[in-house]
Amino acid sequence: MTAAALPLRPELVGVTPYGAPQLDVPVQLNVNENPYPPSERVADAIGEAARQAAKSLNRYPDREAHALRADLAGYLGHGLRVDRVWAANGSNEVMLQVLQAFGGPGRTALSFAPTYSMYPEYARDTATRWTTAARSADFDVDIDSAVRVIESERPHVVFAASPNNPTGTALPLDTVKALCDVAPGVVVVDEAYAEFRRAGTPSALSLLDDYPNLAVTRTMSKAFAFAGGRVGCLASSSEFVDALRVVRLPYHLSAVTQAIARVALANAPELLARVDDLRVERDATVGWLRAQGLTVADSDANFALFGRFADRRLVWQGLLDRGVLIRETGPDGWLRVSIGTPGEMTAFKSALTTVLQEVAG
Ligand SMILES: *Cc1c(COP(=O)(O)O)cnc(C)c1O
Repeated sequence: MTAAALPLRPELVGVTPYGAPQLDVPVQLNVNENPYPPSERVADAIGEAARQAAKSLNRYPDREAHALRADLAGYLGHGLRVDRVWAANGSNEVMLQVLQAFGGPGRTALSFAPTYSMYPEYARDTATRWTTAARSADFDVDIDSAVRVIESERPHVVFAASPNNPTGTALPLDTVKALCDVAPGVVVVDEAYAEFRRAGTPSALSLLDDYPNLAVTRTMSKAFAFAGGRVGCLASSSEFVDALRVVRLPYHLSAVTQAIARVALANAPELLARVDDLRVERDATVGWLRAQGLTVADSDANFALFGRFADRRLVWQGLLDRGVLIRETGPDGWLRVSIGTPGEMTAFKSALTTVLQEVAG
């Protein structure tokens, strides 16, 4: 058999692996990471936890990741206990498990576009039908039209990112309630950026006791400055968590991952210490972009979506030529910049000023 004749699923033929470009440039503002690495002290504690875990790497890890899930429950609060919290290798793995449990052939998953580009990939991978409803011009989810589309599509899974990526838009709790009330299946509120939300923006965690079909996902990849650790979690009813336990791979979370994530959680105040700085920098960046005459979506996350450009590729490339990598994503004409350190944002602003002059001239 030639390689070309491998019996690939037809929907995967010609598909290239998706992902943001990983380029080695001085200013990396393209995947919404926390720009502040852990301190030497936390790095040492993580190293020591990995060393301890290494002593029993001949054994499989705790399949249920009990201790880590208990720590995550403590971090999330809202009276959550270990049986209502799930953990996996990033919240992306959690999403896949959700579709493995609740999606599949003959089933439908729905979200509100523009939104996270990975959802449709997991729908494809699990043979779940994927459909979207449009957000309004300011990227909000209109309750009436969301209810109508859920009533007509009858989705088994609704994904609602809040704050949404790539727009930064958070959902009011009334919208989440309306989705849960009308959805015939499960509603997953993806709160990957929850820690960055502006004051007064609530978390859907507070609704969990009222809606057994609601799940909230979080990640340690963004605010927590732990993207390389690969840990995400989900909180819901214990029945929802039990469904994910059925589809997860055996021993999906390595002993090292469990051990170092627990150290990170124990050092949460330090790892999260720069979140306030990043929110201030975010608001300043949004203000600066608007002062340049650009359109910027309101953001409750650690990035800003701005535009609109007749040729966004030209602007993206011009920034890259000056050592600043941002993300070409979202609706046509828009670009997304992650919030970095003050120094990185100064580099971004000065590069963009030059590029905008070139594009105009
Ligand atoms: C970054 C991100 C995640 C988290 O990804 P991990 O797999 O936990 O690293 C989840 N949802 C959205 C919308 C994101 O942007």
